[in-house]
Amino acid sequence: MSRDTSESPQRKGTCEACGKLNRSVRYIESGQWLCRTCLRELHPPRPKHLASLKTIENLRASGLVVGEDLPKDEADRLSRVLQIRGHGIAIHQDASLGELQAALRTIRKTITLGVRGESHRNPDGTDRQAIIRRCVSGEELHLIREPNNPYSARAVKVVRLNGEQIGYLPEESLGNDRGIGWCIADNMDRGVKYEARILEITGGYEHKKMRGVILELSYCPY
Ligand SMILES: [Zn+2]
Repeated sequence: MSRDTSESPQRKGTCEACGKLNRSVRYIESGQWLCRTCLRELHPPRPKHLASLKTIENLRASGLVVGEDLPKDEADRLSRVLQIRGHGIAIHQDASLGELQAALRTIRKTITLGVRGESHRNPDGTDRQAIIRRCVSGEELHLIREPNNPYSARAVKVVRLNGEQIGYLPEESLGNDRGIGWCIADNMDRGVKYEARILEITGGYEHKKMRGVILELSYCPY
């Protein structure tokens, strides 16, 4: 069995197998310090087309039954199976790449965020507050990229299905499932499709006359 020794302790010293002095030696489980040449004889390097032992260990820890001769591409496929199961979707361990792709595409994530600029007027003079007064909760909206916006290359317009604009998306980055702050505009430019609807309309009463719109965006992160 080959074993990953890359993380075992290392020092300068005498190899306890061949006796060569002043070598870089590593400590192995059997209790010896061995030079690189002797270590290689004892533990031949793992063929490159096979998954790493660490990967195999992780797959087994997740309940998959895999052999030590697991090829890398098969390990990638199985990691995807686990990823899909992590979303609560039942999928067989032997699912094909096509089936995995199809399952990934059904995964939806949602983000809640407030529309910006809803107190302003649109370039055509229409009053966004007046437009928002005609909006209802649950209403579907469109997001439109505006890369030539003079204030921000990441501008995303929020419009009703009839084309009336109610504002813009906030520009700051939002975390996605990978924990990276990619902003929605960048994702849209990469081809991610967002579905937007009104979750809630705020304000519109005596002490807060200005109306605001809370959006729910849903998208497939894969
Ligand atoms: Zn040696």
